[in-house]
Amino acid sequence: MTQDMRQRRAGSDKASDAAGTEMRQRHLEGRGAVWGVPVPVIIAGPCAVESAGQIEKAAAGLKELGVRVLRGGTFKARTAADSFQGLREEGVEMLSRCGKKHGMLTISEVLDCRHIEFMAERIDILQVGSRNMYNYELLKELALTGKPVFLKRSFMATLDEFARAAEYLLKGRGEVALCERGIRTFEAATRNTLDIMAVPVMRRRLGLAVFVDVSHSTGQAALVGAAARAAIAVGADGIMVEVHPDPAAALSDKEQQISLGEFGELIATL
Ligand code: PEP
Ligand code: MN
Repeated sequence: MTQDMRQRRAGSDKASDAAGTEMRQRHLEGRGAVWGVPVPVIIAGPCAVESAGQIEKAAAGLKELGVRVLRGGTFKARTAADSFQGLREEGVEMLSRCGKKHGMLTISEVLDCRHIEFMAERIDILQVGSRNMYNYELLKELALTGKPVFLKRSFMATLDEFARAAEYLLKGRGEVALCERGIRTFEAATRNTLDIMAVPVMRRRLGLAVFVDVSHSTGQAALVGAAARAAIAVGADGIMVEVHPDPAAALSDKEQQISLGEFGELIATL
């Protein structure tokens, strides 16, 4: 455990009172790393783990490009019941094996309380998806694991609601990071509307690391780079980006996933 994690664990004991909040804010000011990884932290990997070969290709390529945190959806929350739902436990095992093999931290979304124990034993950082930010029973159970949790903003949530959801997690001892992933507005040119000011507002309010998901907020591979640069410019602690070894063949979110080559070009601009 890093010094930073120890400090923030100590801080989270007093999560619900002002002293705790102040302590976390002080730590943020002096912080240069999240989960022991220097900021800005780049979380990259496919929307979903699709096969052992696919996630291995992604992991090897990303590792080569300096990525330390590997993402991959395993239990997928899809709008359509007939869409690819993820490889579930099998996908978790594949992601976990790749993380170990390449010395990368792994992150995957926990959709349901029933999956927490299995995933907590195999995955380093547990993600709460946008559709589940309001699932307070899930948040409470995750807080009990003591594992790092990556909380995504609901696409319908105000920043106040986002902060209050985070407070559920802060009642536990695990490290908490936040992720702005775009919200639903009248604008239809992008998949969601990236609320870039969520980054400084949430950092100041809770003193936690704040990431920007540049893929789900834009929905288009061509816009991911601009969103990433905006995120870093506004002080994000890191970004999450969907990278697939063959985006055209992806089983989910094809339009927004970028190739390893495109990812290499993107990080060179940050
Ligand atoms: C994801 O990151 O895999 C995902 C589904 O994102 P969100 O919950 O933000 O829609
Ligand atoms: Mn996706």
